[in-house]
Amino acid sequence: MRQAELQCWLVDDSPTVRQVLLHLLHEQAPTWQLHEFASGADLLRQLSNSRAPELILIDLNMAGMDGVELLRHLAARSCKSQLVICSGAPVRVLQSVGELCRALQLKLLGTILKPVTMQAVTDLVRLVEQPQRAEPHRPVTAPLQVHEVLRALQQHQFYPVYQPIIDLRNNSLRGFEVLSRCIHPSRGLVPPDAFIGSLEKYGLIQLHTFDNLEMALRDLQGWLEQGLDLELSVNLSPQLLDDLTLPEQLCQLLDSYQIPYTRLHLEVTESSCAGTVATRLDILNRLVLRGFHLSIDDFGTSFSSLERLQELPFDTVKLDKGYIQRALTDEACRASVESTLMMARRLDMRIVAEGIETLAGWNMIHNAGCDMCQGYYVAAPMQAAQVLSWCQQWQQHYH
Ligand code: C2E
Ligand code: MG
Ligand code: MG
Repeated sequence: MRQAELQCWLVDDSPTVRQVLLHLLHEQAPTWQLHEFASGADLLRQLSNSRAPELILIDLNMAGMDGVELLRHLAARSCKSQLVICSGAPVRVLQSVGELCRALQLKLLGTILKPVTMQAVTDLVRLVEQPQRAEPHRPVTAPLQVHEVLRALQQHQFYPVYQPIIDLRNNSLRGFEVLSRCIHPSRGLVPPDAFIGSLEKYGLIQLHTFDNLEMALRDLQGWLEQGLDLELSVNLSPQLLDDLTLPEQLCQLLDSYQIPYTRLHLEVTESSCAGTVATRLDILNRLVLRGFHLSIDDFGTSFSSLERLQELPFDTVKLDKGYIQRALTDEACRASVESTLMMARRLDMRIVAEGIETLAGWNMIHNAGCDMCQGYYVAAPMQAAQVLSWCQQWQQHYH
């Protein structure tokens, strides 16, 4: 799209707010065609008579038709414009309006908190004019079939890769998250999204997890012998938390490599702890008693609050990459990340931010007081053979 053609409509019942927004937008994006509306009804009338704009800024709290009602009308017209909610409503209201937009299949680009600042408008313009940085190429792969996962297990086609986790207080390397990969004879490299679900479905996830963990412990043993001080984080599928013997099995495996239990962080997704049943609580508590660390993975992808999670024995929370990336462009989301960090400090929990891809992301979480981070900005997951030289480079340049 040529930016000169970009139409931006804004609807707000306060003439002062409209004036401020128009002024800031005009300064930041002089080529945009701006139109203001004092009510949702006016905007809908215009929409019936002209093509939809690329962008609509919507005030939530308007006399007459409020912003939520306007969203409903826009959805009924299958509006394809990108929407920005601009409001002084509390963050939790903005978040639930965000959920509503998703449910209505509207394209919500972000939110701007009132009073509107120059920075918020600058961020918005940058976001609209520079399409989101594409994720590194990730082929969409069909899930592996039962015979494929069985063969992959038998023929050792699965292997661990390692992604660094950095302590933001002093840039030191704390350890690695262990992620699984599969090298398939005809399909090539297969990402976990295409096999974890299959392994779970066919009852093979436990076998795979222990195989992968054993390879990782062997690698860790070598690195510890080389003098590196590292911890590993390992993902556990919810199914593993249904087997009461899990703590003993893990202890046995770590004992056989003489690795202290405190070097292992077990990552469990937020959703697998929802309404946690007695078996899972039993397992989680016994793991902590033995010295393992427990992390909540993918925090920010559902509605849990840290207060609720504090009833469970976790010491670390991993903020999901989608949540972090939204926070870079969406003020309400940024406020929510900041309040999560504040709450975590009060609850004495460590926070790891995932998906840090840029310097802007690093700065945001660093300034917000986050403890640790992980992401392509530091390093993508790497094979075991690369780990030692990567650690040396990191120590030389950044620590
Ligand atoms: P996860 O545990 O949340 O792991 C983080 C994912 O984010 C990894 O994807 C990692 O490669 C990716 N990532 C890291 N930094 C960035 C970044 O800066 N930007 C973006 N866009 N992505 C980044 P991966 O390796 O594809 O794994 C996906 C998920 O599969 C993992 O999410 C985890 O839930 C699951 N998984 C991976 N390995 C295992 C495993 O051995 N067992 C189980 N149960 N699950 C696994
Ligand atoms: Mg994880
Ligand atoms: Mg995660």
